[in-house]
Amino acid sequence: MLEVSPVRAFSDNYLWLIRAPHDVRRAAVVDPGDARPVEAALEQQGLMLGAILVTHHHPDHVGGVQALAARHGAEVFGPARERMPCEVRALDDGDIASLADLGLEFRVMAVPGHTLGHVAYHGHGALFCGDTLFSAGCGRLFEGTPGQMLGSLDRIAALPDATRVYCAHEYTLANLRFAAAVEPGNADILETLEAVRELRARDGITLPTTLGRERRINPFLRCRESAVRAAAEARAGTPLPSPVEVFAVIRAWKDGFR
Ligand SMILES: [Zn+2]
Repeated sequence: MLEVSPVRAFSDNYLWLIRAPHDVRRAAVVDPGDARPVEAALEQQGLMLGAILVTHHHPDHVGGVQALAARHGAEVFGPARERMPCEVRALDDGDIASLADLGLEFRVMAVPGHTLGHVAYHGHGALFCGDTLFSAGCGRLFEGTPGQMLGSLDRIAALPDATRVYCAHEYTLANLRFAAAVEPGNADILETLEAVRELRARDGITLPTTLGRERRINPFLRCRESAVRAAAEARAGTPLPSPVEVFAVIRAWKDGFR
């Protein structure tokens, strides 16, 4: 199992530090939006940075890339279809991000929706999905369509139940409040909401999650469930015959949910 630790940045970002499985001194980082907390974590844990993985172009995911790459000589892997702050090993769907020096290898999945060129990295039983999937939620549609995002989430949902999902933000509590509004009769959601409320009161970290858990609690992975569809239809005041219409209604509902 991969050893992955969170580096907190900004108000609610997690920059994930992945340790090289066979070299205790080396690590990779995912989406370093800020170089400073990464430098501090590397120093504190006695690690050298060997590689940087980037999921999409937003500043809170790439802000520290250039400084870290320059200082550590770390190779940068990033999406082929997005503008990156420096030269990257450009990756597209189906490519392999081979971090040979670190003994790490990830399969790249194109997951458009939050942004058009967004990619996720899957390997070693883990998924680094940036702002595509959150625990009990999903990213906002800044560039893509509901159909693109649902297609991306469906591909993620096809991965094994045990997959550990490393999302880029601590949004779980707010997402679960919304999930409970969509499915008030879902005991898994209510139980998780209680546990997460308690965890967050102690400033605990709710991630990683697993795909098995997300399938039970995440309304955006549950667009085909009759309860979710019924809630979306009640919200829209019209029948919603397709999952993508259900998805679009709950995504817009979440955008305005407080
Ligand atoms: Zn983003």
